[in-house]
Amino acid sequence: MSEFNDQLLNFLWQQLDAAWQLFLIAIGGFLSAILFTKIGWRAEFRRLFPSSLRVNLLVYIFDALVVAIPLATLVGVIYSKLNSTGLVAFSKIFDDAPAWLVGIMCLWISDFVGYWRHRFEHSALLWPAHSLHHSDEEMTWFTLFRFHPINRLSTAVIDYGVLFALGFPLWAIGLAGTVRYFYGMFVHINRPWTLGLLGVILVSPAMHRWHHVQAGRGMYSNYASIFSMFDRFFGTLYVPGPCYEKLGVEGIEHDEFRSQMLLPLSVLWTKMQLFRMNIFRSTSKTVDRSNGTH
Ligand SMILES: [Zn+2]
Ligand SMILES: [Zn+2]
Repeated sequence: MSEFNDQLLNFLWQQLDAAWQLFLIAIGGFLSAILFTKIGWRAEFRRLFPSSLRVNLLVYIFDALVVAIPLATLVGVIYSKLNSTGLVAFSKIFDDAPAWLVGIMCLWISDFVGYWRHRFEHSALLWPAHSLHHSDEEMTWFTLFRFHPINRLSTAVIDYGVLFALGFPLWAIGLAGTVRYFYGMFVHINRPWTLGLLGVILVSPAMHRWHHVQAGRGMYSNYASIFSMFDRFFGTLYVPGPCYEKLGVEGIEHDEFRSQMLLPLSVLWTKMQLFRMNIFRSTSKTVDRSNGTH
């Protein structure tokens, strides 16, 4: 278990390191764009560092400092519990199968699980947390880091829980996580690419951009992260072409950090108040009725 936690923490640090390197690449790209193109440094700066970047950065820092370690510990506990209770379905089969096949299967199944988990995140229960990711009106690769801690919790528990329960080896789960991480950055980039024929199998930046639109059919489409085939198969695919529609969530300020982080709590509080009011109303109706009969 401690060895597993070490591996997980190591993985998280690798992610931080990778994000830092990509940040440096973005600065390099920005400087070369100024030098070699005629876009102008102001327009290029606005494209690479939009106003929503502040919230993305704050969420990223909050996740790294506050959320990452408790979440890694929880994932470690889930892993050890499933192993100690023997709930690991096919571990023997995966031990005997060729590594490349196990790796591809793990990636494919993790995206299948992710597809349904993402649909669940669009339900009334989890939307107040998931809406933070969708509120970015100027989506870039850095939007991948814009996830509420509750959203991180649902992703980690469901995705890792299922993969552990199926008995996939840790290296395959780590590999699938790394591919999903970098592919996730790719589908959030600010480019109109549909990927042509490849788009039949893979999610394109245009496809995911349609998922982030503020109104229309795209809002209820394109839940997969890597394989577009899941959306095709379950009837949720919608890619009419490159997406130039307005992104974000109506009624939510995309550059507001605190209110968005507190949104699930305020929704819960409002629901509790309504519940209490309903109980009070039904109790007083009962009292009135009993008064009437007596
Ligand atoms: Zn979504
Ligand atoms: Zn997204």
